Amino acid sequence: MDLDLVIRNARIVSPLGVNTGEIGVKDGKITALDGPGSALAASSIVDAGGKYVIPGIVDPHVHLGLRNPFGTDVRTETRAAAAGGVTSIGIHLNVKGQTLKEGFEREAFGTFKSNFEENAIVDGFFHVPILDEVTFEEMPVYPKIGITSYKLTWGEVGAAGDVGLYRVMERLSSLGDRVRGIIHAENREIAAFLADRLANEGRKDFPAWNDSRPWFCEAEFMEKSILFAEVTKAPIYFEHVTIGRAMEILTRAKMRGVNVKAETCPQYLTLTSAEKGVLPSFPPYGHVNPPLRDKQSNEMLWDGIAKGIIDCIGSDHAPYTTQQKGDDLWAAPPGIGNIMEMTLPLLLSEGVNKGRISIEKLVEICCYAPAKIFGVYPQKGGIVVGADADLVIVDENEKRKVSAKKLHSLCDWTVFEGWELTGWPVATFLRGQLTAKDGEIVSQPGAGKWLAR
Ligand SMILES: [Zn+2]
Repeated sequence: MDLDLVIRNARIVSPLGVNTGEIGVKDGKITALDGPGSALAASSIVDAGGKYVIPGIVDPHVHLGLRNPFGTDVRTETRAAAAGGVTSIGIHLNVKGQTLKEGFEREAFGTFKSNFEENAIVDGFFHVPILDEVTFEEMPVYPKIGITSYKLTWGEVGAAGDVGLYRVMERLSSLGDRVRGIIHAENREIAAFLADRLANEGRKDFPAWNDSRPWFCEAEFMEKSILFAEVTKAPIYFEHVTIGRAMEILTRAKMRGVNVKAETCPQYLTLTSAEKGVLPSFPPYGHVNPPLRDKQSNEMLWDGIAKGIIDCIGSDHAPYTTQQKGDDLWAAPPGIGNIMEMTLPLLLSEGVNKGRISIEKLVEICCYAPAKIFGVYPQKGGIVVGADADLVIVDENEKRKVSAKKLHSLCDWTVFEGWELTGWPVATFLRGQLTAKDGEIVSQPGAGKWLAR
């Protein structure tokens, strides 16, 4: 049988090791793995030149359709994904501005799905927010239509508070072992109180945002959520963990057998509230929740990854232009834009090349673990026979200077402007098709598929 594609001379990375060999692809799937000099034949041969070949990144934490129409964001931001070696994205659906009924009826869901498939050049799956009684009642419906993860917004903000959080967890634990509840851990009441106080003092500098949401807001919400998860047996997932203290909190929870997974983001591994450059020059860029912390937290998060306390990486990509960010620190929409395309270069440059993590660990936290946690493994997240041929050739020695102009997001800024990073993706394949090469996009909208789970 002739294959469609063979990648030769590859250093193939799995969470367990690196093997030199060849990858055979037929009909979009990995159908053969063999050693060097194999007899695998194909209509298309790619020589990886001895570079690493890793599974496509699975970024489980992406916001689209916040300020722009959903389909518009899908079109631009999946280009950013492909260029950055990201081949599957977990999208938080934004239903604000619609009535809940509209937002959650199957027609509306179908619109999200068809909008995605018409515009995407990478694959994606959806997370739904649980906002109120209506969406709470609908929770059992979602696994039947291929959505198995929920953002527990109801318990994080608004009147429901602790009761909302507890009730959602109770219901989650009754929905079987495929579901997971995603939690943004921050005590919003204290954060809002401190923001008011600092704004009244006239503060509008970049560190003022960080000062308004101190570490204990995050620690308090994590401890409470873990306790609720322990008594309800709900499977939970902390998105964007930022604080060093979380390592102790998560270790205790995991030792007690609580079903908890944790994510951090590249920005919390590399940036602090004492940052120079782009962030203090335009404080609204730094309006992100949770806020950036300090060097000690950065290092404790790296250490938590190495020790398996932090399970995976998400980007929390939220694309806003500078104009959409506005010039008011306090009123700016939250999020570090333009991060998805930077995830792999940042983890290669600041992680692997600085000896903080191995390349195997990078594949574990960026590919295998998010795929496993969100129910798309083994279709995604590993170079194994039968998996989708989502593959990224990585040059760990390539040096590039970061510039928003060269990135593909609609976001016209990056907080990493001018950073010199070593280690970049040089080719991205989605289901065996070349999608991006040396930062250039070569596939067309509509190449991406929505993943039912
Ligand atoms: Zn987020």
